[in-house]
Amino acid sequence: MMRTLGIVGGMSWESTATYYRLLNEGVRERAGGLHSCPMVLHSVDFAPFAENMGVNDWESITNGLVHAAKSVESGGANAVVIATNTMHKAAPEVQAAVDIPLLHMADAIAAGAKKAGASKLGLLGTAFTMEQDFLSRPLMEKYGLEVIVPGNEGRSLVHRTIFDELCCGKIIDKTRCDYISIINSLIEAGADAIVLGCTEIGLLVRAEDVSVPLIDTVHAHVELALEYVFS
Ligand code: GLU
Repeated sequence: MMRTLGIVGGMSWESTATYYRLLNEGVRERAGGLHSCPMVLHSVDFAPFAENMGVNDWESITNGLVHAAKSVESGGANAVVIATNTMHKAAPEVQAAVDIPLLHMADAIAAGAKKAGASKLGLLGTAFTMEQDFLSRPLMEKYGLEVIVPGNEGRSLVHRTIFDELCCGKIIDKTRCDYISIINSLIEAGADAIVLGCTEIGLLVRAEDVSVPLIDTVHAHVELALEYVFS
């Protein structure tokens, strides 16, 4: 019997839609026929979360995430999946608030790195994800992986375009070129894989654009979640 996932999504819905499709495709591939992924989806209105990030009000954000995680738990989910990298800043508080396991993005990225044979990861994401250590610390401490991030200018371009373009469904060629040159600088600095550490970047940058393996966090997280569904 398959286990039920609890997805905390909507941040943004552009990437939650990809989670939804990949989870169902993954179940169809493994179980065949009319099987699809059992899940409870709590999809939030992203605007207040983004506003709270803008003023660094992480208490309100954490409260919102805890509320969503509790709602998927009471809806029958066996595990919670926070379908964004940035919101893993509050993962410890969310895990503490529910009795079901949280399937952490860092574990998904580490599995992707192992598959790619990579040990030095170039990480792209929001400023929170690149400049704070809620993802890089577990990657380093639990898995012995090295994590590098772009310089100031690259970080601010990636952060700005995530919110102004990708989360609004705007896929712009010029921005793809900018990302590729930022990624190439990370490769020059020794990165042997690039982590698309924001769930919308895979809508812009594709494997064929980059000369080292890409770890798209939506795909990696979905893989981890599917393992759980069938465990
Ligand atoms: N989806 C993005 C991420 O994976 C950014 C949106 C958010 O702040 O959650 O980090």
